[in-house]
Amino acid sequence: MTLRTSQAGWKIFIEIYFMDNMLTCPICGGKAYRTALDCKKFFLTSCKGCKLTRTKLTDLISGPSPDLYMSKSEAEKHYLVQREQFADYAREILDFLPNVNRGSLLDVGCGMGWVVKEAGRRGYVAVGIDPSVPYVNLGKRVLKLDLYRKTLEKFRTRQKFDVIVLNHVLEHIKNPRKFLEKIKYLSSKSGLLLVACPNIDSLMFRLFRCKWYGLVPWQHIWQFSDKTLKMLLQANGLEVIKIKKTNLYYKVPGIKGAVFRLLLWFSNIFQSGDQTFILARPNK
Ligand SMILES: [Zn+2]
Repeated sequence: MTLRTSQAGWKIFIEIYFMDNMLTCPICGGKAYRTALDCKKFFLTSCKGCKLTRTKLTDLISGPSPDLYMSKSEAEKHYLVQREQFADYAREILDFLPNVNRGSLLDVGCGMGWVVKEAGRRGYVAVGIDPSVPYVNLGKRVLKLDLYRKTLEKFRTRQKFDVIVLNHVLEHIKNPRKFLEKIKYLSSKSGLLLVACPNIDSLMFRLFRCKWYGLVPWQHIWQFSDKTLKMLLQANGLEVIKIKKTNLYYKVPGIKGAVFRLLLWFSNIFQSGDQTFILARPNK
């Protein structure tokens, strides 16, 4: 294993060493993993007990920093330049909620807050939390939203929420069990949890393997399929109400773009999209 000589490099090295050696499977509690795919700079390994896939990094030099988009200019580039894409996506994910049940909504890992904005437009009293300073500042300043710069761990409130959104969040979380405990604590009695994650059990992953857009190996610890995501929620006291497979957003121009559109069309036809939406409710 190679490593960066900077202080940040050591921090990453220690974290990864810890992860590789101490992480237990958040579904079955297993500690034994087998290599599922060797991508040279990282491996995908899957739990021998339940087949949950996770990333194992081997090259810490040439990968990007795990703190992507944390600078102000990166945040602006990511969330403002692509504003139409994010606004479209916010509508798509919120359409997965039942049409009744307006109330309070918490978006955990809200980024700049496009989902919070759309939820507000639909009649929810919506707030968002995110640990990123530039994201939260942008959302407050540009979109005029009720956002807090907090991790879930440090978010203290007595309020219970009718809807909690985890939009591309769970795959980043080292300890999903502890994280979901807090989510359940913050849920109102009839509260709903809306989860979106990349889906590794998909046509796009089968075609692109190590280069699949949804892997993001330097940031995603867990590589869920629709099945393992459902198992994770059920293993942590959540009842799964419905599941949908859709596709990640691909912005590919020209002829290549036409090929991608065809692939995504096939993905939909064969129910093999590379993004999962799940609606769940805590067993209270
Ligand atoms: Zn397992």
